[in-house]
Amino acid sequence: MSDLAERIAGLLRDVPDFPQPGILFKDITPLLADAEAFDAVIHGLAAFADVPVDIVAGIEARGFLVAGALARQLGCGLVPVRKAGKLPPPTISRSYDLEYGSATVEVPVGILSGRRVLLVDDVLATGGTLRAAAELIAEAGGTVVGMGVIVELGFLGGRAALDGLAPFEALLTL
Ligand code: AMP
Repeated sequence: MSDLAERIAGLLRDVPDFPQPGILFKDITPLLADAEAFDAVIHGLAAFADVPVDIVAGIEARGFLVAGALARQLGCGLVPVRKAGKLPPPTISRSYDLEYGSATVEVPVGILSGRRVLLVDDVLATGGTLRAAAELIAEAGGTVVGMGVIVELGFLGGRAALDGLAPFEALLTL
């Protein structure tokens, strides 16, 4: 495990049965609250941009917390990928299956056209959220050149859901 991966692992808080029974929630709050570790995370994610990037897309809500700092680090813009009904129109949306039920994500129309996009979130679980966001960005005319997360829950196999989309990297795989 890399030094950064070890540092991240040491600053995650496991919360059993949140937000519902059976889920072991990986809380990144202690990581975000540690200035040096947060800085190292942003630099680590920035290293995933090994091709030119025009805009960082962050997934609501914890993806926003890294996307802003990352966009600033890379000297590029930011676009939010939001849950249904939060963005003003015009938007396009995509629904996908969760472990229980379904969810919908949306992006603004217009901003992504012709842009090279680095898509980020805090945690990859089953991969459905990142996949839906990447497909939506492509539908909006953007090109996803990379996808990155702080933590990948490898035992859930979410990486396979991202096959054929764009290179995917995680700073820590559990
Ligand atoms: P998935 O679509 O299953 O990959 O779920 C990814 C989204 O749900 C991300 O936006 C995560 O923030 C959140 N998520 C799913 N499972 C967890 C978990 N065990 N701990 C923290 N966040 C999670």
